[in-house]
Amino acid sequence: MFGLGNPTFKHGIHPGEFKELTREAAIERIPFSRKVVLPLSQHLGAPSKPVVKTGDRVRRGQLIAEAGGFVSVPLHASVTGRVTAVGLRHHPSGQLVDAIEIETDVTSPQSLAGEETLDWQAMSPQEIVAAVQRGGFVGLGGAAFPTHVKLSPPEGKKARFFMVNAAECEPYLNSDFRILLERTDHILLGIRILMKALGAEKVYIGTEDNKVDAAEHLKRALPPDLPIEVLVLQTKYPQGAEKMLIDAVLHREVPSGKLPIDQEVVVQNVGTVAGVGEWFQWGQPLIERVVTVTGPGIREPKNLMVPLGTPLSDVIEFCGGMSDDTRQVLFGGPMMGTAQRFLDVPVMKGTSGILFLTDREVVPREEYPCIKCLRCVDACPVYLNPSRLGSLAKARLYEDMLPYHIMDCMECGSCSYVCPSNIPLVQRFRVAKGLLREQQIREKKAADEKAARDRIVAERQARDEAIAARASVTEPASAS
Ligand code: SF4
Ligand code: SF4
Repeated sequence: MFGLGNPTFKHGIHPGEFKELTREAAIERIPFSRKVVLPLSQHLGAPSKPVVKTGDRVRRGQLIAEAGGFVSVPLHASVTGRVTAVGLRHHPSGQLVDAIEIETDVTSPQSLAGEETLDWQAMSPQEIVAAVQRGGFVGLGGAAFPTHVKLSPPEGKKARFFMVNAAECEPYLNSDFRILLERTDHILLGIRILMKALGAEKVYIGTEDNKVDAAEHLKRALPPDLPIEVLVLQTKYPQGAEKMLIDAVLHREVPSGKLPIDQEVVVQNVGTVAGVGEWFQWGQPLIERVVTVTGPGIREPKNLMVPLGTPLSDVIEFCGGMSDDTRQVLFGGPMMGTAQRFLDVPVMKGTSGILFLTDREVVPREEYPCIKCLRCVDACPVYLNPSRLGSLAKARLYEDMLPYHIMDCMECGSCSYVCPSNIPLVQRFRVAKGLLREQQIREKKAADEKAARDRIVAERQARDEAIAARASVTEPASAS
């Protein structure tokens, strides 16, 4: 049901929601797997660096890999057990990446290694930010950007507004919805902590009008001393994208190349906020997350609390198995999810949902020529011209896409969704962006190498000139 009077951003689309499959399903805890695989790259930024080796015994919640830099987070054991390998394993991106494999100790009660309360009231904002990084927190909406980085605005910038992202605009997914209903206390504690870290004056919780019951539940729970406003936005995709949410809630535009902090805003996913609350209350770092397991291809759709590293095959088994006509398994929703090729891939920090689609949903469609209807232009939330970009991508004129701002494409798939000619626009844009990024990296490397060579040549020249100058000073003396 769309409340057309509710605020929203401009453009975007209204895909079918299909949330009813798991809407009423309370979060269930999946049993611990026999083995978990924890990739060192499950966040944006530098991979974590292992601090354990094969054969080590580890406790649930124990640090097993430290942050690989500022834009990076540590990794913690999601089970008590023994490290059986540190090596290459399948990653949901389709690549082989370094990972830590832990065999679960089936006799262990799986109690937490730390279990201490962090006294956030006694901490300075900087200490809170450092503690958030220590807990390994990233954006749980799917992007997996390190949380502490967003809590550290650059010099001269200030976050007056803290925005909790509970839009969950991807069809099928309900993990944020269930968190709003079932983890309200941790959300409110997380808000208090993150407000202090940011020094924010006001908090907005943005959700959509297909979650009115959750919004009402939250409003009833709001403490009077917190400056929080719960906003029910019109249900629209991709409202969960930060820039769209800021537009819908504050009517402020974050221009190309700028960040939310340039509009005095920091946005965090509601699951991340609840996780931070839990970390400070119980000392539980990010070792598990809520995952919606759904779609017509899974026999028993559920919302699950899943230890990180749990193999996809175990999730499928716990949910009654796949139907025989399952054609595609996606990590994430149908719009931005990643198709999986292997059943041993692990649930990661950014896995908000696992979607099972059948022959009925995955229908190969023939591509027709562009008819210049401009539906894609009307749908694009960042005002690109997908029709023009699509023609350039098809002709592999990737560099020519740069003046048309291809790098601003957020790969939301709205253009592909509305295209009557079935042109795989977003798929082509992903390829184009990937190739352009590689080219930029190559060019930067070549420029850095040239600068290094030039520096060496200049240093040698300066040294030779100095030697020559010294020789010219000493020569007359030795001649006399
Ligand atoms: S995928 Fe890119 S071009 Fe297409 S609608 Fe989304 S942002 Fe616009
Ligand atoms: S929606 Fe498809 S057919 Fe219409 S202008 Fe865009 S690319 Fe062309």
